[in-house]
Amino acid sequence: MSELKLFNSLTRQLETFTPVHAGEARVYTCGPTVYNYPHIGNMRAYVFADTLGRVLSYKGYKLTHVINITDVGHLTDDADAGEDKMEKMAAEKAQSIWDIARHYTEAYWADIKALNIRQPAHWSIATDYVPAMIAYATSIADKHCYELDSGLYFDTSTVAHYGALARAKTEDGEGRIEQVDGKRNAADFAIWRKTPKGETRQMEWDSPWGKGAPGWHLECSVMSEALLGLPFDIHTGGIDHREIHHPNEIAQNQARCGSDHSGAHFWMHNNFLIERSGKMSKSSGEFLRVQLLIDKGFHPLAYRLMCLQAHYRSELEFSWEGLQAAFVRLKRMVMGVSNLKVRHAELASPPVTDVQGDVAPAIVATLRDFGAAVEDDLNTAIALTSLETLLGQKKVDVAQQLAAIAEMDAVLGINLMALSRTDLRTRPKNAIITEDEIETALAARKEARAAKDFAKSDIIRDDLIAKGVEVMDGDPLGWDWRLDV
Ligand code: AMP
Ligand code: ZN
Repeated sequence: MSELKLFNSLTRQLETFTPVHAGEARVYTCGPTVYNYPHIGNMRAYVFADTLGRVLSYKGYKLTHVINITDVGHLTDDADAGEDKMEKMAAEKAQSIWDIARHYTEAYWADIKALNIRQPAHWSIATDYVPAMIAYATSIADKHCYELDSGLYFDTSTVAHYGALARAKTEDGEGRIEQVDGKRNAADFAIWRKTPKGETRQMEWDSPWGKGAPGWHLECSVMSEALLGLPFDIHTGGIDHREIHHPNEIAQNQARCGSDHSGAHFWMHNNFLIERSGKMSKSSGEFLRVQLLIDKGFHPLAYRLMCLQAHYRSELEFSWEGLQAAFVRLKRMVMGVSNLKVRHAELASPPVTDVQGDVAPAIVATLRDFGAAVEDDLNTAIALTSLETLLGQKKVDVAQQLAAIAEMDAVLGINLMALSRTDLRTRPKNAIITEDEIETALAARKEARAAKDFAKSDIIRDDLIAKGVEVMDGDPLGWDWRLDV
């Protein structure tokens, strides 16, 4: 196999991946702030990080992946402005922050599972690391920080090339910086936020700078160092993090380890999923969550496939039509695999193991194309076409073909080897008929047609249509029916 090339946001170019520790890949992904449900755009960031992890495993590296859960410290503005998102939601819902965090962490984990995202080695919970954060801040405070009434601030002029990742200058601020009296530089940020005098926060800890809570940027520097050691290989996040959060993490890592040290060799960012009607805003009534897709009758892996159809560095525009097209593509693939499984059983072929032995040249060539695509900065769009080429190959050994499909699917994570057509038949929440009722009605219709009782068969069909069921005679994918979404 050849080299793995990845786009490094630090240098804005493709670079060959060379691990810090031989044979290993250590990856840190900025996780969600658990004050609300994640929208499907947020989940694009984790589909990307998961795909990266799968590619690293495919390339033979022993992967250690960390995703954090931010349950304190992320303000309503990514810089230092606004309220803590968790405190704000807890006040709105009149619940404790801990309950809010538990509820939305579980909802996030449900989405992780639905999208077939592998479990990372560690889910690091920010509040578990507060003593470590205080120790870390203490270690850099003398040289790199200053104290104001509102907190302990990081002086961005104390490290070289602050903001290089964002390609921003310290002083321009890009209109993103909160006015705080006494700040030395516009881009300086709080690493410890003091509880204002006379107030009590639901989450606050004692520190050398008084009662308060950690800054969001501090959290990721501390947890990544604690769990992966510095430097580690790859740090990921959405493209918005390239502008503020990650430059601030890098500044802290430099303060801790010397100015040339950004903490990770690669900083990688997924572009945004965009949706023009505003449904992705968490404040919109029916906002776009994975559960909404399921309620509307889509299988969640159709969304994963939709993400993989685009390059992670391109913007991806969401539309229901686009999702529907991805769903049909998923159905085709699942149908292709199930046909091969039937043939495999009929031919009593040897069991499907790894691709080995005397493999057909067509399969070898397709696997090579697939490998070249994913090694080219995770070009999953091309890799998917290799998978489809493989699915369509005739006159090759079926066991080898299935083994090759399994190998590709382990990288793409669409769960093709396990999914059945029945799994894909999800039921819209508003459906007024059950699957059993549909199957019974269709069996009766089949009987009526066999007996040439077309009047009866039409009545059954009309009744199904009235209940939102489309009867799909002669469907090329072999589907008998579909519930309208
Ligand atoms: P947050 O919970 O706001 O910290 O966001 C979680 C992750 O989702 C971060 O990596 C963000 O950069 C990423 N993100 C936010 N919005 C989008 C979007 N529309 N498309 C893709 N990624 C996003
Ligand atoms: Zn982070």
